[in-house]
Amino acid sequence: MRYISTRGEAPALGFEDVLLTGLATDGGLYVPESLPHFSLEEIRSWRGLSYSELAFKVMHPFVDDAVPADDFRKMLDETYAVFAHKAVAPLVQLDTNEWVMELFRGPTLAFKDFALQLLGRLLDYVLEKRKQHVVIMGATSGDTGSAAIEGCRRCEHVDIFILHPHQRVSEVQRRQMTTVQGDNIHNIAVRGNFDDCQRMVKESFGNQSFLGGKTQLAAVNSINWARIMAQIVYYFHASLALGGPDRSMAFSVPTGNFGDIFAGYLAKKMGLPISQLVIATNRNDILHRFMSGNKYEQHQLEHTLSPSMDIMVSSNFERLLFDLHGRDGLAVKNLLENAAKGPVSIEDYRWKHARKLFDSDAVDDKTTCDTIREIYEQNEYLLDPHTAIGVRAARNCRRDHAVPMITLGTAHPAKFPDAVAESGLSVKPPLPAHMADLFEREERYTVLDNNIAGVQEFIAKHWKNA
Ligand SMILES: *Cc1c(COP(=O)(O)O)cnc(C)c1O
Repeated sequence: MRYISTRGEAPALGFEDVLLTGLATDGGLYVPESLPHFSLEEIRSWRGLSYSELAFKVMHPFVDDAVPADDFRKMLDETYAVFAHKAVAPLVQLDTNEWVMELFRGPTLAFKDFALQLLGRLLDYVLEKRKQHVVIMGATSGDTGSAAIEGCRRCEHVDIFILHPHQRVSEVQRRQMTTVQGDNIHNIAVRGNFDDCQRMVKESFGNQSFLGGKTQLAAVNSINWARIMAQIVYYFHASLALGGPDRSMAFSVPTGNFGDIFAGYLAKKMGLPISQLVIATNRNDILHRFMSGNKYEQHQLEHTLSPSMDIMVSSNFERLLFDLHGRDGLAVKNLLENAAKGPVSIEDYRWKHARKLFDSDAVDDKTTCDTIREIYEQNEYLLDPHTAIGVRAARNCRRDHAVPMITLGTAHPAKFPDAVAESGLSVKPPLPAHMADLFEREERYTVLDNNIAGVQEFIAKHWKNA
């Protein structure tokens, strides 16, 4: 399988290089040159497979000979064995033909574990083969950092440095990062804000001379292709559980960077009958505004009760724009260069095509809280604020009640107790058993000044073979 850039000017790469690269040299994102396509008969034959067996069927065409079949099977068995539910991604029924797929049974209680648990293992496998080492450097305001650390904790060929803004992440989120023990795990609390952290990461990728040429940086942010790939699997899993592929499904996806829902779009293109995909956003609603009025325009960032969806632009949307423009990389490059300067639109027929593929909705904090309360009162089932946005959008956008509507449950409610409290409920969502002692575990992190030279010096001194 070969991968090409959405901006048309970077060289095509194989899976291993795409895994290690992240962003293409022309500033674009990598996508498969062509997608595998599965017949209904083939998908039907997957009924009854375990999650990890299904993951093999869906993902092996993308990985190809970078990981031989037997090794890949073993890797997937290990990856999905860490989830705290036998079904890995269990479905919970809310109402007639309405479901939540719980994607928060992994080690950090958010769906990002599905991809990052696999990504850490893939990286280590490929680096072992190549006798290489990488330093992962990332900035986090919450969920991604802990999932990346958990994903890489057992990697022998990876050191991971995660920067978070000192005293500006929630205690649960900080502890999920800083209590993971391992010589290759390094938490840095920067005396600054999230943007300061992100700027340092970006500048360090631009000039890696501080590493002295002895190792290189790698990125695990949501534009990494392997993350998208791993997220395709659970759309097949849900469909097969509810009578697919002989009936089509509808999905509602709490959306920030457009990675998770883009995976659903790919599942459909690969042959899975999906009749509706709903983009559910919070007040940071650039995608909903685009879908409603064909205007792609950045607004100020708003802080909401669903912080993992607080974005100004959705980086993975570029991958959809590439398809909407007939895979013309230069057209995408021009469009996004213009979008950085001000509002842009696309040709009407392309926009209408996008509207055939996706519905959308934006949900504010009050409605999010109302939904948490309503579902609890109806079912004694507690939603986290991100999933609540998905459920509300699913109900607002639903077209056909004969089609099962599945909302992706992206986080465990215990991660966001403030939103639950704000919804007026007096229940407190408990941490699951495997995390119940989180507040007793020993923390390890280093506080550094908001100064890139100091941070780089720390990294150069502390990676494994420094
Ligand atoms: C990351 C995240 C999202 C957004 O997913 P995208 O792939 O960026 O669209 C939604 N909910 C939760 C809980 C998340 O952690």
